[in-house]
Amino acid sequence: MSATDDYDYLFKIVLIGDSGVGKSNLLLRFHKNEFNGGQRETIGVEFATKTIEFDNVHVKAQVWDTAGQERYRAVTSAFYRGSLGALLVYDITRHDSFRNAERWLSELREYAGEDCIVMLVGNKSDLRHLRAVSAEEAKAFSENSRLSFIETSAKDSTNVETAFTRIIKEIYHRRK
Ligand code: GDP
Ligand code: MG
Repeated sequence: MSATDDYDYLFKIVLIGDSGVGKSNLLLRFHKNEFNGGQRETIGVEFATKTIEFDNVHVKAQVWDTAGQERYRAVTSAFYRGSLGALLVYDITRHDSFRNAERWLSELREYAGEDCIVMLVGNKSDLRHLRAVSAEEAKAFSENSRLSFIETSAKDSTNVETAFTRIIKEIYHRRK
């Protein structure tokens, strides 16, 4: 492959979950290896892209972030349309954000379809002293709903690259 922006596949992936769980920072970490620790809401981009290579293929991930409209539960069908994967994010220190994962999942299934590959992401794993959702509880939910599961920290970078790479590979293998 000659040009660096050439790719074999383009996968749309959406970030969903309650406001404040760290969606925008997960994308910022993946896209620019940066973190925004401020209390002010991250000014999100509409989407960011990154191309990864494995098995001699180049996959361009187009990762969509909400612009804060999730606070009003006003994420539109256009946001979900055509997405092949979703990172369903909760905050391990906020049990309500975990309980709401079920609602996010049904909305996703409604608009993106049953084939959209979903990974449950427990973010803020660096805040282990404030943990309110055990990994066992999250794992049980993910297995019942046939999702993969990972814990991440956008702050200290733990598993962020792994989460994105894993869902991209899952989508790729499902397509074959
Ligand atoms: P969003 O509303 O889901 O997009 O969440 P943001 O990315 O805007 O993050 C909300 C708040 O949580 C911000 O104050 C971030 O600095 C903070 N935050 C995000 N990810 C992490 C993380 O992994 N660890 C910690 N300690 N804080 C985080
Ligand atoms: Mg955000």
